[in-house]
Amino acid sequence: MSKESKTYKNPPKKVYIRTFGCQMNVNDSEYIIGQLEQSGYSITGDILKSDLILLNTCCVRAKVEQKIYSLIGKIKKIKENNQNIILGICGCMAQKEKENIFKRAPYVDLIFGPSQLNNLIEIVNSIKSGKKQSIFCNNTTCFNLKDIPVKRESKISAWIQIMRGCNNYCSYCVVPYTRGPEQSRGVSEILSEVENLAQKNYKEIFLLGQNVNSYGKNLPESITFSKLLKLLNNTNGINRIRFITSHPKDFNFDLIKVIKNGDKVCEHIHLPIQSGSDKILKIMNREYNVNQYKSIIKEIRKNINNISITTDVMVGFPGETENDFLDTLNTFKEIEFDDAFTFIYSNRENTIASLMPNQVPLQVKKERLWRLIDLQKEISTTINKKLEGEILEVLVDKKSIKNIPNQLSGRTKTNKTVVFIGEEELVGQLVKAKIIKSDTWTLYGELVK
Ligand code: SF4
Repeated sequence: MSKESKTYKNPPKKVYIRTFGCQMNVNDSEYIIGQLEQSGYSITGDILKSDLILLNTCCVRAKVEQKIYSLIGKIKKIKENNQNIILGICGCMAQKEKENIFKRAPYVDLIFGPSQLNNLIEIVNSIKSGKKQSIFCNNTTCFNLKDIPVKRESKISAWIQIMRGCNNYCSYCVVPYTRGPEQSRGVSEILSEVENLAQKNYKEIFLLGQNVNSYGKNLPESITFSKLLKLLNNTNGINRIRFITSHPKDFNFDLIKVIKNGDKVCEHIHLPIQSGSDKILKIMNREYNVNQYKSIIKEIRKNINNISITTDVMVGFPGETENDFLDTLNTFKEIEFDDAFTFIYSNRENTIASLMPNQVPLQVKKERLWRLIDLQKEISTTINKKLEGEILEVLVDKKSIKNIPNQLSGRTKTNKTVVFIGEEELVGQLVKAKIIKSDTWTLYGELVK
């Protein structure tokens, strides 16, 4: 389809977009906004003034899905007052729920899944020309974002999806069903995107994928995630390279070597452990055991100085006994993560875990969550305390959200937040800060000139 045919004859004026969920969704929304702006839309934060409402949804947790259904319910009134407004639901929940959304909310106009991002303009045009209640959820066979306009939220850090989908089928997860099988973007497309960002003065890139370190497996060229990182490390202009999320089963020594030797690759690894019990890991279908996970951490720490390691962990998986949970607590004590994203297991329809017996009562799950959070807080506080007195490189990314005049906020290469007093012109720059104080989540520094 030619570029000309992608423009509207009578473009409506405003789009309201709300994004739920992970960074992949945030980046998808940047592509949605980029395409819509090029087609004549402008963005509005006022839903009542919009001509097109898009909800870019997530379905990883039941609670978020309920929240989105409740929002769709509230939009009914807006649609009743203005029948011309188009309401579209996209993202993972759209892919998973499809017809269910139309059943529960027949006033929704269109539904499209993450793979249909590149066809957005055709999809919206077809609704505008009278096609109602359409579903566009076919998974595509290859993943590219070439020539798709993008409007990035930040001028300092850019999200770059290097792959989409997942082949792992962890027994609790809906991603393989919503984002489809793993598909990697071609190397040259990624390299030219990063070169382009470097020319625009971006300082940092975040490589995104459900399983980044499995990158390249479906590509005809001979490429791995480690090789890609090495190539990107040689790009002029970009200062920092980050990546999320890695899977322990695909974490190898080549990758450790690239992080160690690549001066731009940040010393921060996010490696979800999910549980400290072998029994639970097995029924989660995670394909590693606790000892294997610990060996990776040992190897990482042996080779990379000052590495920070964070994780995801879930409590209350079906069948998790108090002893299994104690195994998780003990593993946390032993590994000492810099930080952890802690979750209560949430039953997702159509996953194998949702059919498992021995579901853990909510009260028990909550109580375990708090015990784990308390432990992690202690560990994070102790680790941060050790950084007091050190001088660290900080990429200043914003004015601090706290209402303190001239307070800026940035992140170290190890992904720790540092706040300090400085002039606003420093936003977007790399500076040095001496850490004078710390707490569980934040380092407090002084600018070193
Ligand atoms: S690795 Fe597991 S948890 Fe992560 S996206 Fe794939 S199936 Fe889901």
